[in-house]
Amino acid sequence: MKNSAKYILSLVLFLSACSERPTTAPLSPPIDIEATALAMAYTMAAETMAAVPTETQIPTPTEIPFFLTTTIWSEDARVPIINYHQFAPNSSEKSTDHKIRMEDFIDGMDALNQAGFTLIHLEDWINGDLYVPEGRRPLVFTMDDVFYNNQIRMDENGEPRADTGLVLAWQYAQEHPEFGFKWSLFSNLGDKWYADGDAEGKWKEELAKTIVWALDHDARIYNHTYRHIRMDISDAAGILWELEQNDLFLRELLVNAGREDLIPSLGNMFAVPFGYWPTGSGYNAMTNYITPEGKPMLAIFDIDWPVRIKFMAPPYSPEFDPMKIPRIAMPPEAVEYLVEHQAEFPTMVSCQVGPLDAEQVSNQEYLKDAIHASITSGTCPVGIYIIEGYTFDVRQGALQLMD
Ligand SMILES: [Zn+2]
Repeated sequence: MKNSAKYILSLVLFLSACSERPTTAPLSPPIDIEATALAMAYTMAAETMAAVPTETQIPTPTEIPFFLTTTIWSEDARVPIINYHQFAPNSSEKSTDHKIRMEDFIDGMDALNQAGFTLIHLEDWINGDLYVPEGRRPLVFTMDDVFYNNQIRMDENGEPRADTGLVLAWQYAQEHPEFGFKWSLFSNLGDKWYADGDAEGKWKEELAKTIVWALDHDARIYNHTYRHIRMDISDAAGILWELEQNDLFLRELLVNAGREDLIPSLGNMFAVPFGYWPTGSGYNAMTNYITPEGKPMLAIFDIDWPVRIKFMAPPYSPEFDPMKIPRIAMPPEAVEYLVEHQAEFPTMVSCQVGPLDAEQVSNQEYLKDAIHASITSGTCPVGIYIIEGYTFDVRQGALQLMD
């Protein structure tokens, strides 16, 4: 079952209403116009509508008509999920599939930012939060085999060290907030000593500090098995133990660091190591795994090369399979592809819904009627609407959405 169901409200429109746009409407572009042109058309239309209030709808001369800006997916989003592993110093000859040169990493972020991509939280998207700022394209960054020193490590002041990869992303986001810093880190906490790994176990304190920094800064931590096992040759009990042990150790570290307050926000998502999938009872153990707090498995991630490049569909789409979501290896090649093909990744458009009675906008039924009116008048397109924290699905042919 899709968890997004509870976030999405369906708005029942009559098909006739959707398909019969008034001929006087300022827009009704042919469907083959690309997203950017659509966005401009809708924005212009919205601005025109907002700027020319109809006199008949102003009850008194002193009252200003009230409009709400909504953002709309008028085309289905396609979300690339790029998968990073470790980082190499700039003195390295070239980036490999497992270690990206730090310079290449920064250049990649900058190219993606200029191509209009913005980082989103993977878990939020799967749960139905489909918001991205207008004109921006959603993008997910993930990192596997966490935590290695070169991925992130704290200095003596508790700040991430400048010679680690994630801090470069953090710094980039400070200078480019439109790109942002949102990560999904898939951890193997039991297959390596961290930092200056010592037999006395001091490394656990360092690891805990790093984990706390990550969780406090929008780098969320998920599961990649405790010891990075090959699941295709593991049995169900072994798989269950690996998933559980990674989760238990993460919680132990947080408790030891005095940050058990972070535990309730830990999610349940999993990336299959090496892309070697288990079958039969092993597969069932994986998909049925629940966290120590009782959260069921939300999503499982695959990995593939950019030669077979695939993207995450929106959670309401029939193509969306939460138990096999594609990710892209080889970040430099993936970035190159995305920059070159940026126009194929839709952005949200915005539109003004109204005029509205400001006192009623927290009422879902009232909002539904207002959206309906905006569509039938031709002011706003059909699509997935995000307005006042609500998500409405008002597409043709998918009116009673979400199982
Ligand atoms: Zn891995």
